[in-house]
Amino acid sequence: MERLQKAMAEAGVASRRASEKLIVEGHVKVNGKLVTELGTKVSSSDQVTVDGVPLEREQPEYYLLNKPRGVITSAHDEHGRKTVVDILKEGGVTARIYPVGRLDYDTTGVLLLTNDGALANKLMHPSFEIEKTYVAKVKGLISNHDLEQLRHGVVIDGKKTKEAKPKLLSVDKQHRVSIVRLTIHEGRYHQVKKMFKAVGHPVEKLTRESDGILNLKGLPGGQWRELKMDEINALK
Ligand code: URA
Repeated sequence: MERLQKAMAEAGVASRRASEKLIVEGHVKVNGKLVTELGTKVSSSDQVTVDGVPLEREQPEYYLLNKPRGVITSAHDEHGRKTVVDILKEGGVTARIYPVGRLDYDTTGVLLLTNDGALANKLMHPSFEIEKTYVAKVKGLISNHDLEQLRHGVVIDGKKTKEAKPKLLSVDKQHRVSIVRLTIHEGRYHQVKKMFKAVGHPVEKLTRESDGILNLKGLPGGQWRELKMDEINALK
C-alpha cells in the first residue's frame, strides 16, 4: 500500500505536491469513488482515475547493481552528480526505479533498485532486520578484543548496536591495515563506518557483499542485472 499522491507521482501524473492538489480539488477517484482526503492509501489492484483517465501504472521491475564508488544512492542529485539510477538508465532502463536503502558515495556493492514501492517500503522497515554483510578495509591491526566489541555491540550516536558477526579475513602488518567481514542486522546511518570508528579503526574501503538473499556473485563492479523470478519471490 502506498499513499495515493505517491502512486500518482510514480505514474507520472504530476509531482507529489501537485498530485495532492489534484486530490483535494476533486479530480481523483479510487475504485469509482471520489477521494478528496490526503490520507488515502492504494495498492496496485486499486483502480485510480484522474479526471476519468486511469493511472498508467508501471509493471514492477527489479534490478541488482554492484554499485561502484563515486555515485550517489538516490534517484536525483541536486548537484548534478551521477546517481545509481543514471547507471541503469544508460543501460536502457526506462522505468521510474529508485534504490532500496542506501550506500555511501564511496561504498561499493549490493544495491537493489525497483519501482515497486510496496516492496521497497517493506524491505526498508527496521522491523525486517535483514542480514547485511560488508567487507571493510580498516586502518590498524584489529585485535580479538576489537572483534568482541563489534560482536557484542558498540555505542554509536548514543545507542548500542545489536549483536553482529565480525570475522577477521587478513591483516597487513607492513601497511597496518586489516580486512574484516562484518554481518549486521540493522541499517543505521553510516553504521559500519561508525562501528569501526568506535573501536579505533576507521574504514578506508567498504563493500556490501550481500543484502539478505542478494549477493555479488557473477556481477563485476559497476554492472547490474535483472532479478530472477525466484529472487523476487524470496524478497516478497
Ligand atoms: N554502513 C556505512 O557506514 N556505509 C555504507 O555505505 C553502508 C553501511
